[in-house]
Amino acid sequence: MDQHNENNATIAIPDGKPARKLRVLLETYGCQMNEYDSQLVRSILIKDNFEFVDDLKTADVVVLNTCAVRDHAERKIFGRVHQIRHIRGKDNPLIIGILGCMATHLRKALLDDAGLKIDFIAGPDSYKNLKDIIREAQAKGPKSFDVTLSEFETYSDVYPARQKESVNAWVAIMRGCNNFCTFCVVPYTRGRERSRTLDNIMEEVKRLASEGFKQVTLLGQNVNSWHDGPHDFAYLMGQISQIKEIERIRFTSPHPKDFPDSLLDLMAVNPKVCRHIHLPLQAGSDRILEMMNRTYKAQEYLMLIDKIRSKIPHVVLTTDIIVGFPTETDEEFEDTRRIVEKVGFDSAFIFKYSQRQGTIAAKKYKDDVSDADKTKRIVLLNKIQQEITLQKNQAHIGQTHSVLIEPVLEGQGFNKAVGRTDGNKLVYLPLGENKPGDLVRVKITDASPHALKGEYCYSGFPFSRE
Ligand code: SF4
Repeated sequence: MDQHNENNATIAIPDGKPARKLRVLLETYGCQMNEYDSQLVRSILIKDNFEFVDDLKTADVVVLNTCAVRDHAERKIFGRVHQIRHIRGKDNPLIIGILGCMATHLRKALLDDAGLKIDFIAGPDSYKNLKDIIREAQAKGPKSFDVTLSEFETYSDVYPARQKESVNAWVAIMRGCNNFCTFCVVPYTRGRERSRTLDNIMEEVKRLASEGFKQVTLLGQNVNSWHDGPHDFAYLMGQISQIKEIERIRFTSPHPKDFPDSLLDLMAVNPKVCRHIHLPLQAGSDRILEMMNRTYKAQEYLMLIDKIRSKIPHVVLTTDIIVGFPTETDEEFEDTRRIVEKVGFDSAFIFKYSQRQGTIAAKKYKDDVSDADKTKRIVLLNKIQQEITLQKNQAHIGQTHSVLIEPVLEGQGFNKAVGRTDGNKLVYLPLGENKPGDLVRVKITDASPHALKGEYCYSGFPFSRE
């Protein structure tokens, strides 16, 4: 290994050339919160004199920002570490570090696994110490780590290093979670809930507006419980909507317990607050909901849906569902199925239950629903949901919507423009004069379960909303 310069994140080159910055390859897995955290990490390490690269061959350090929400996500990371070591080979080693939820969830297992040879790990509240953690790994070899969880760290003083490839900027307004749903590792991997201050968030959003972002999506594990003194989440959204250049505000993920009338009233009248609510259901049986510690009954969830729809007609509703939670019977799965059919979500993320080490569910309940039953349930529910999604999307044919044009991402569209409706539905459009960030009026002409198709309208303002 090349010699390390203690004062900077640089390495001295043996042939006498000046020291160069340490090169970091950062890979991100999992949720949008991890994407946001990776932007924080970039910002912190650039300030600490590191350089980011895209090519594994030229990297000195590889950092994997990881997810621990499902077993599958963790196994993927183990596979990737082995792959990286294999590609680089014995003669061309590099330092590998694990960040994010896996770092806190599997700290000991990661560091003790001789086959993996992880050099350092850092939990979600330790990113400001990364320079020192990497240095220590470089100087002393593997087992440098910091996974201390903080009750205060919100990274308010770090402006994320975003790579501007979108009209949307994600803004984490809070960190951690206090809800302790029994299946979830987040309260253990990300710690207690903390809100950023109103002023600090406003400063970030104003800066984003000045950089050309048209939409912000407020992020938090329990986003609608955000507060700062007397100010609640609805107040925050109202304040952001007054920033002229910001056209749209979205948020994810809320908990059904935190939907006061003030929030729904704001969504009903404020044209900048998008009428899309992702409202995790998780299960339709009261017994399973109680075992999950979701703190609502199925009927209360349905009453909330009714209230949302009465205040916000044409709202787009999406959800998360877990099938095969411990002891879930066929009848209890049918409860979930009935709610899916009754509500008619626009789309749903449906998962098989995955037991997570350290959670209350793992300690208290045996993972006793067979994989075959979980598969049967997920296949059936996905089929039902796909039919509902198609019907929901087809109902838009002939309607007009305001669509925010987005940059075309890889694999998204060939010779097409893409955008999103207020309700977050993807729309394919003919290539036109419009550019990303433009808000255009579109008539929907076709629909599939995955997207809408439309053509530009040039008359009939103002825009209709879903
Ligand atoms: S609300 Fe529940 S599922 Fe969501 S992050 Fe918190 S504990 Fe996990």
